[in-house]
Amino acid sequence: MRIYRLGLIGYPLSHSLSPKIHTAALRACDLEGDYTLFPIHPEDKKELQALLSRVCSGEIHGLNVTIPHKENVIPFLDELTPTAQAIGAVNTIYLRENKLLGDNTDAAGFLADLKKFLPANTLTCPGGRCQGRHGDLNVLVLGAGGSARAVTYALLNDGWEVTIAARQVEQAQQLSDSFVNYKLPITVCKLSSIENHQTNLHSLVSSLSLIVNTTPIGMTPNTDQSPLPENLSLPHHVSIYDLVYNPRETKLVKGARSQGLHATTGLGMLIEQAALSFELWTGHRPSREAMHASIE
Ligand code: NAP
Repeated sequence: MRIYRLGLIGYPLSHSLSPKIHTAALRACDLEGDYTLFPIHPEDKKELQALLSRVCSGEIHGLNVTIPHKENVIPFLDELTPTAQAIGAVNTIYLRENKLLGDNTDAAGFLADLKKFLPANTLTCPGGRCQGRHGDLNVLVLGAGGSARAVTYALLNDGWEVTIAARQVEQAQQLSDSFVNYKLPITVCKLSSIENHQTNLHSLVSSLSLIVNTTPIGMTPNTDQSPLPENLSLPHHVSIYDLVYNPRETKLVKGARSQGLHATTGLGMLIEQAALSFELWTGHRPSREAMHASIE
């Protein structure tokens, strides 16, 4: 019986939940193996290359990749999947037909969890063109970093019209430019214009079905912060998805729930992206419930 050697590259990694989640997945599928943390300093390209050569030799069967190496690993890989290519970042590495492949399960993981989370009546898809109860599906993405790229890719492929608000509007514009071939245009704006209640905030917010926070604002230890102004009143049909999962209820989510809105943090996405990586490495579908229970 194969013993699966799996792991995670990143820096720092001391707070990672991935070993618990993947160990639970191995157990749930009755497989033997382990999941090791490989903290590699951002500048240490030699150690990165040495670790990846252990995947090429078959000693390691699968790796996840997190900050700051999601782009750093790309020059050492033989091929990227179309998804990883489009997002420009890799979170999953494995060997296929003697080629070292870079894949990205963040986008599919986010979308899978979003579909579970959104109220059933948010979506109708007449003729394949998704619409919300209040017209076209409009989403506001806060932040324009690595996870915003995966989230925007997933949303565009699902037929959403995306507005990106970032503190560096140039970063949001760059993200938008990289998805220029999609049918639906991306609008960009400055995050501070929302914070300061400037511009056409009212019309933007009233047209939205969903707000996704991809910034780390509100993450432990800064749990008293929120990417949206405290007194911003949102229409009841807006759902809030906060990628931050530590704490389990962020200030953004708590505030939205207190207004009666549907809101969640990103634990479900964390589980889904991990499960999808695990499926690529082992060919087994792990129980999401078992993975979830491992970090409760
Ligand atoms: P990233 O690549 O560093 O991007 C972060 C983005 O947020 C950048 O646009 C950054 O702008 C912006 N930002 C950071 N601090 C800000 C602040 N104080 N005010 C305004 N904007 C700010 O990080 P990432 O990989 O996208 O991760 C972002 C968050 O998502 C983290 O909390 C991470 O844990 C979470 N995440 C969760 C999952 C999940 O599975 N649930 C998956 C991936 C990420 P600048 O470039 O100007 O700093």
